[in-house]
Amino acid sequence: EEPPAAMAVPQAGSDDLVLLRRVGVVDPSSLDDYRAHGGYTALRRAFELGPAGVIREVTDSGLVGRGGAAFPTGRKWQATASQPDHPHYVVCNADESEPGTFKDRVLMEGDPYALVEAMTIAAYATGAHKGYLYLRGEYPRALTRLEHALAQARARGLLGEDVLGQGYAFDIEIRRGAGAYICGEETALFNSIEGYRGEPRSKPPFPVEKGLFGKPTVANNVETLVNVLPVLTMGAPAYAAIGTAKSTGPKLFCVSGSVARPGIYELPFGATLGELLELAGVRDGLRAVLLGGAAGGFVRPDELDIPLTFEGTREAGTTLGSGVVMAFDDTVPLPRLLLRIAEFFRDESCGQCVPCRVGTVRQEEALHRIVERTGAAASDDIALLREVGRAMRDASICGLGQTAWNAVESAIDRLGAYE
Ligand code: NAD
Ligand code: SF4
Repeated sequence: EEPPAAMAVPQAGSDDLVLLRRVGVVDPSSLDDYRAHGGYTALRRAFELGPAGVIREVTDSGLVGRGGAAFPTGRKWQATASQPDHPHYVVCNADESEPGTFKDRVLMEGDPYALVEAMTIAAYATGAHKGYLYLRGEYPRALTRLEHALAQARARGLLGEDVLGQGYAFDIEIRRGAGAYICGEETALFNSIEGYRGEPRSKPPFPVEKGLFGKPTVANNVETLVNVLPVLTMGAPAYAAIGTAKSTGPKLFCVSGSVARPGIYELPFGATLGELLELAGVRDGLRAVLLGGAAGGFVRPDELDIPLTFEGTREAGTTLGSGVVMAFDDTVPLPRLLLRIAEFFRDESCGQCVPCRVGTVRQEEALHRIVERTGAAASDDIALLREVGRAMRDASICGLGQTAWNAVESAIDRLGAYE
């Protein structure tokens, strides 16, 4: 079987890596190999620190969520840990579905024990004894490797009734998604696990208070959880020294499109977009870069000095999202690309609320008319797109509808897509 890192991690084996250091280096089926490369030292450290000590380290590290929304992880863990209602749950959101995002896949396929260890630490810190790993259904290799890792961890006392002989019980169940983008939204994901339609719930209440089965739940993205291992092994100050003051630590970027070496790149926060594209071998004739995936926004080739941090992309009027960097050269027909994005959102809208259910259809129709006119836009279609986009952003229940117009808006305003 071909190792995933050979293609997906151009930096594999480099000494500078923190999150990807084992990917493409260790045998993902071997617990012994994982341990030989530092595996399970973070969990041992967690037991030394105790739950409150772990949460303190995670808070002090400045770690924020890597799924896209950058919520402080320590605050989320503390809020869950302090809930009097029990049981508490840990949910790993591995339903990676944002177009252009494949970092979690690479972590799970290349270093599956890291996620098992990290979920165990999250559970110990927040008082959970059961974890659910909600895995994108289209990731069969990750499923096989994670199932094997869970079985090995159970057999060796790293999951089960008495984890590491510390008297702490924890186990993980994998649930597979069935192809719906919306099931990556955390509350739709809970509904899916509970056996209901994958429709988002209104927030608040936030999952830390009422999550899976209505109980306090810490829901974290795969990359977020895997970051907890270096937080504990390096210590919070050393971890926080990586990156910038507001975006600490290392970050994975998913680079695809018009580049010579597409794949997952690990860089400290603060590198510029241009530096990343240079590493990936950007091709001549760059027309636009999509940051943050279909829910993100386009930037121009003269904006490559944007720092890849949450605050830097925000200041530049765009978003880092889940770390998607898609490069498009001038051979890519932009109006068709935008129509494809609109089709995606229309297809993936769960249909629960009107602004998104109707708005994504109207948006697609307008973009279709534009493509039919060989890519030129009538001013009334642009006005309609803006009006529909505003309604979706202001009135949709969840992030899908709220962001479904982002990429089109940025293509109009930053790229002059239809001029
Ligand atoms: P959000 O801002 O509503 O929430 C982010 C996280 O913080 C959630 O876990 C939420 O429960 C928690 N949270 C927020 N406020 C809280 C509070 N006051 N108390 C306790 N917890 C709180 O964002 P979201 O809708 O969960 O996610 C949107 C993001 O998802 C976007 O940035 C988008 O880029 C990203 N996304 C990622 C993928 C992917 O495949 N990785 C796919 C689609 C969207
Ligand atoms: Fe469903 Fe769209 Fe409403 Fe989200 S915004 S709840 S995806 S209809």
